[in-house]
Amino acid sequence: MIVELVNTGTELMLGRTLNTHQQWICRQLADAGRVVSRQVAVPDTAEAIRHSVRESLSRADLVITTGGLGPTSDDVTREFIAAMLGRPLREDLETFARIHHYFAARQRAEPPHAQVQAMVPEGAIVLPNSCGTAPGLAIEVDPNPFRPGGAKSWLVMLPGPPRELRPMFRESLIPLLNRVMPVDEPFVCRTLRATGIGESQLEQAVAPGLKRCVDAGLELGYCARIGQVDVRLAARGSEAGTVVAEADKIVRSCIGTHIYGEGEEEIEETIVRVLTARKETLGLAESCTGGCLANRITNVPGASQVLPAGWVTYSNEAKQLCLGVKSESLDRFGAVSEEVAREMAEGARVKAGSTYGIGITGIAGPGGGSPEKPVGTVFVGVAGPFPTLVRRYLNPFDRETFKQVTSQQAMDLLRRALQGADTAG
Ligand code: AMP
Ligand code: MG
Repeated sequence: MIVELVNTGTELMLGRTLNTHQQWICRQLADAGRVVSRQVAVPDTAEAIRHSVRESLSRADLVITTGGLGPTSDDVTREFIAAMLGRPLREDLETFARIHHYFAARQRAEPPHAQVQAMVPEGAIVLPNSCGTAPGLAIEVDPNPFRPGGAKSWLVMLPGPPRELRPMFRESLIPLLNRVMPVDEPFVCRTLRATGIGESQLEQAVAPGLKRCVDAGLELGYCARIGQVDVRLAARGSEAGTVVAEADKIVRSCIGTHIYGEGEEEIEETIVRVLTARKETLGLAESCTGGCLANRITNVPGASQVLPAGWVTYSNEAKQLCLGVKSESLDRFGAVSEEVAREMAEGARVKAGSTYGIGITGIAGPGGGSPEKPVGTVFVGVAGPFPTLVRRYLNPFDRETFKQVTSQQAMDLLRRALQGADTAG
């Protein structure tokens, strides 16, 4: 099956918007057993859109476009493609009503051009937009005039905003594709997410054990991200399920304590999920991460059940005032020290009245380092119904990466404590 992706939007060509659809859609399709063979981004001009879509239709079984379905003058994808396929636009009553309802429910006046989004090419399947107004459109192009022999293709148009495209993709497009163009052979894909281990170290640990699975057809991939590594296990054919299950078992037996979750789960989601299930809570005391940890945890729905409070205590005074860190500890060991991380974690736990407390103190840089404590030095404390754990890390990165990696390590230390994997030291 040949799949091609056309991302439209002049803002992509101007570097004003990062083309996240390229990565996200390719990933979703690949995990469903459909690999994109070509992707192109083009500006919102008639010429560029027609040229690229016609070219893709001349080869592909499935062509997906993104962007240009909205109500403004630069949203032209729907019109150009409908014209190219010789399909007149008709008003879709259900979409018309949905758009009307969308604005009414938000008590907002309906903009004059909103209803152009209810104009649907003849014969198109409407993919409802649960988070916005422009619906997606799927057209069975049969016969396909641009393809040798007229073999049929599917053409799918998706809206630009990621928060609209993603739910539509999952809820409407994937089921539609499974129905109208199922993958030709069984495909199984599983992603294991590891943290606290580098990419090469991980590969060394698992590759020898996985050799026979690879020989049996396992597609094995590693993807390093900030503070974590994804291990992708995939296989095709009648034995796919067995091969992936076997590989999963081997990876877990080699690096089990490093694996925090599966699929697209972020570690903050793991933390919220586990704490919610245990009916336990967490207080936070952050210095050098500046609230990054609190931000990540509060991005997860349901965080209010597990996070009563967090403090960003940058100065020594704030650490004493908000968390009860002792002035002797600050004087004797310095703000970036094992003792202060411990007192921050314990202070956060007491002040928040929570089951656990995390304390983070470190030197983000570029200034402030010393030979004993170079830039990037971090101490993380985790307090709970056990002797407080403190770990020292070295994260010599730019400030943004530093915050991400450090908050990741803090959550991982808590996760391991929750699972009893690290309490022994
Ligand atoms: P559009 O429907 O083309 O008007 O797109 C609406 C908004 O969606 C744009 O202003 C972008 O912020 C966003 N968007 C469009 N295309 C992409 C893309 N390929 N990747 C990420 N965001 C996009
Ligand atoms: Mg646009």
